[in-house]
Amino acid sequence: MIDTSLSKSSQGDPQCFEGLEVGAVSVKWVRRSLEGHVISEVKRHEGYPKEKIQEIFHKYQTNEKSKITITGHATKNFLNLPYYAEAECLEKALLYFNLKPDILISLGGETFSVYPMKDGIIKNIIATTKCAAGTGEFIVQQLLRMGMTIEDGIKASKNGQYTQLATRCSVHCKSDATHRLNKGECTPEDIIKTLIHDLARKVSEMIDSAQWPKDLIILSGGVALNDVFLENLQYYLVDSEIKVLPESPFLEVFGASLYASELQEVAPARGEWFSKTTVEFVNQKSLINAESLLDYRVESDTQKKIVNNGQYILGVDAGSTTTKAVLFNALDDTVGASAYLRTLGNPILATKKCLKKLINSVGEKRIDIIQCGVTGSAREMVSVYLDNCRSFNEILAHARGAVEEVPDVDTVFEIGGQDSKFISFLKGVPIDYAMNEGCSAGTGSFLEESASVDMGIPVEKISDIAIKSTNPIAFGERCAAFINTDLRNALQQGAKQEDVVAGLVYSIAENYISRIVGPRQMGKTLLFLGGVALNKSVGLAIASRSQRNVIVPAHPELMGSVGTALMARDLLQEGITSERDFVLKDLIKGDMELKKLFRCKACENNCEIQNISIRGKVYPFGGLCSKYRLLRQKGIKIEEGQDLVELRNKLMIEEFGAQHVEESLGTIGLPMTLTSHSLFPLYVKFINELGYNVMLSKHSRLGNTKTLASICYPCELVHGAVLDLLNRGADYIFLPHVIELEIPKGFKHGYVCPSTGMIPDIIRAAFESDKDKIISPHIALSKDLIETTLKELRRVSVSLGLNPKIGVNAGKKAISHYREFSKKYQELGKRKIDELKKTPSVIIAGRPYVICPSEVNLALPRKIISRGYNVIPADMLPPLKDREVSERNVWHFTQQIENAVKYVKKYPNLNICLVSCFSCGPDAIIYHHFRQELAGNTFCYLEIDSQTAHAGFETRVGAFLDIIEERRRKKRKETLLAVMS
Ligand code: SF4
Ligand code: SF4
Repeated sequence: MIDTSLSKSSQGDPQCFEGLEVGAVSVKWVRRSLEGHVISEVKRHEGYPKEKIQEIFHKYQTNEKSKITITGHATKNFLNLPYYAEAECLEKALLYFNLKPDILISLGGETFSVYPMKDGIIKNIIATTKCAAGTGEFIVQQLLRMGMTIEDGIKASKNGQYTQLATRCSVHCKSDATHRLNKGECTPEDIIKTLIHDLARKVSEMIDSAQWPKDLIILSGGVALNDVFLENLQYYLVDSEIKVLPESPFLEVFGASLYASELQEVAPARGEWFSKTTVEFVNQKSLINAESLLDYRVESDTQKKIVNNGQYILGVDAGSTTTKAVLFNALDDTVGASAYLRTLGNPILATKKCLKKLINSVGEKRIDIIQCGVTGSAREMVSVYLDNCRSFNEILAHARGAVEEVPDVDTVFEIGGQDSKFISFLKGVPIDYAMNEGCSAGTGSFLEESASVDMGIPVEKISDIAIKSTNPIAFGERCAAFINTDLRNALQQGAKQEDVVAGLVYSIAENYISRIVGPRQMGKTLLFLGGVALNKSVGLAIASRSQRNVIVPAHPELMGSVGTALMARDLLQEGITSERDFVLKDLIKGDMELKKLFRCKACENNCEIQNISIRGKVYPFGGLCSKYRLLRQKGIKIEEGQDLVELRNKLMIEEFGAQHVEESLGTIGLPMTLTSHSLFPLYVKFINELGYNVMLSKHSRLGNTKTLASICYPCELVHGAVLDLLNRGADYIFLPHVIELEIPKGFKHGYVCPSTGMIPDIIRAAFESDKDKIISPHIALSKDLIETTLKELRRVSVSLGLNPKIGVNAGKKAISHYREFSKKYQELGKRKIDELKKTPSVIIAGRPYVICPSEVNLALPRKIISRGYNVIPADMLPPLKDREVSERNVWHFTQQIENAVKYVKKYPNLNICLVSCFSCGPDAIIYHHFRQELAGNTFCYLEIDSQTAHAGFETRVGAFLDIIEERRRKKRKETLLAVMS
């Protein structure tokens, strides 16, 4: 609210004092009179901080007579005016209001800081990392993605339900939210409610980590105005008084204005205020230099025409950011009409709107729509809506479209809003593919959001602005959150907007090439597809970075929907489907209704299956595997493959599981995480032999509320497991320091990673009050260290008040029980491999604690066996005799993966799914080596984190199996042709 008495009338009055700050996303200004009247302005600078400062000075007629003080480090880049640090200004403001909080929180656009305070003095600063995960700005970005204003979003969140999202990393969170929205698993209101809730939780965790009194907490920064956030924060900080002042949104500049009143001099002459800014970033070549490599064929809509009485196939690409639909002429292969709209988190509504647009294009003409296909991340839901039409994987749909466009295509780059894909071809057949792993730094949404939220540039203007740049900034190939921070820094340093935009465009190309293509083979000619390909500057950046010829077809954004229509036509031509009669006007009628819900009892996942009715027909929808999709679409039950992961779990947990001890000494809890999924027989036998019963932890997602620092997902799960065991009253928790597992023949070590080795200490720090309940002997199974292990187990019995011999005997029995299991498991493995290496099978290679527990593996084995493939866990494979071993591979589990890779190279019927976790140390070092080894094989790389949406995961697994099938089909055809000739 502007106090007009202080605006023009107070111009140049030295009795008015001003404070100013340039932040990551906004400029804040305040003017205060001696009498205490205040006016303020908080303006998003959108990449023009200097211009915004000038606007404010002009609007309020700030002149030489004003006394001004600046704060915020970046402000010094622009103004030669007296400067005070932000913390000093905050202290000054609180002193003015005579407030002495215990904690002051500053909630900025990009970072949060918690200031523990005593007697009005800041004693410490705890700040978030550079990563923008879950800051207020992140929420603003997500609201814009869903087409909501900040005010509307906050209001809407009140009607939402809390849902699970991977909120610890902004990039994963965004992809999680998008996939869940597209699958219809939640609403935009739910997403916003969850983001605000989790933001409050994070802030409360930061406050807790300060280990400081928190009776009175004061908030500063724009987020303080969000009442839903405040309610949530109060929920976590029940005993604290949380105070928001009218000046909270600009508290630091208010403090700066207080310092201004102490200045002896008025401001220097206005001409001297603005400093010459220096941009501390390296520049690179102009994008236009790569023009000779780019064949940009993009056409306008005017080329499309509907033929009266024509036969058409409807192709829909229901993507995360945009929805596209085409009417594809089945006879002359032309696109008769198309629609391209934003999905805005509601794929069904977006599809309906696209169909309405197609109806308008058809006008009075009469056409037959003989088939319909749908692809994209919301394909399953949309296929039900479109009368249960065929759904196709995005990779294959784009591949099909690409081959039609350029028959001898060898490489496709497809950059969409949220997902990016790479496909390589051999003689027109896709043989390899890759997708981004949750990271959005090589996707369109990253470019679009950075340009629009930080610089106010609409998507259609990005290309022209970027191409104008003569000195693009080199942001490099990095995490999206870090590039965002650098972008803001560059703008704060006064970089030209066009150089920043061109730098961003280069980053998209660099991230794509380094993260998605990686070590894979790029061909000679790249076909660049997806909505982002409409942006000519990105094509230039790709051409420049790859030094290949890049073709952008006439309608790169429609290639998924065209490919889908072509795939539907292929099925018709091959006699796999028959013609149907789709009527656009009927397809936009009616809403999907939820009918009876039931549980599938076919496996332990016990999925909820929703019957959905549309236009009088009912379809089963949902489930973690392909069972109901195949049933719905093909009307047949596929014969499932063998699930050896399940067999492994049964053998280990049921046959070699814990016994009930009568008259036990108590209960020892065993977290079912990390090495418990390998050494389970040893652990439970040892506990039983000590005279205790075993309590197994139940899966809990509450782990991340207890972690004190960022850690990998499996270690986060240990926190949840320990919390569960403590809550259920376990007397002790058995959580050993595992040093080394068995060393396979030929290797020198069999280490576990440092996080696994240190987990007991990490847990003790997180559960300070229960730390004495944690039993942590050092355990190593290599021959040299077995005696030491027994000594450690002896120490456990002593610590429990038992005779030392009991510990040693229990240890010996436990080790031999484990060896018995290992032997049996290896024998089973040998038998099964002999049986299965001749049938299509998939080895899942990763840590047993990620790939085996059904609560963690996102139903990966089920997803594969429901398509008819056998699934083999990597640790079941007997070591190959003739294999070479890599000296650098010192970890037990990656040695198993190395062995699995060798199997795949040796037996053509075996394929491999490499599974890793976000931020896993050993994998970061060694996985690129496996990727190189697997060059030429079709393999799948998956990362599992706390994200819960299965759609993206399903797309990757589905594409992997589709491509294997395509390759096999092609091979069979070639063999047949060879025989016939
Ligand atoms: S994973 Fe598949 S088979 Fe198992 S319960 Fe879910 S839908 Fe049924
Ligand atoms: S191996 Fe990787 S995923 Fe497993 S605990 Fe260590 S860092 Fe985490």
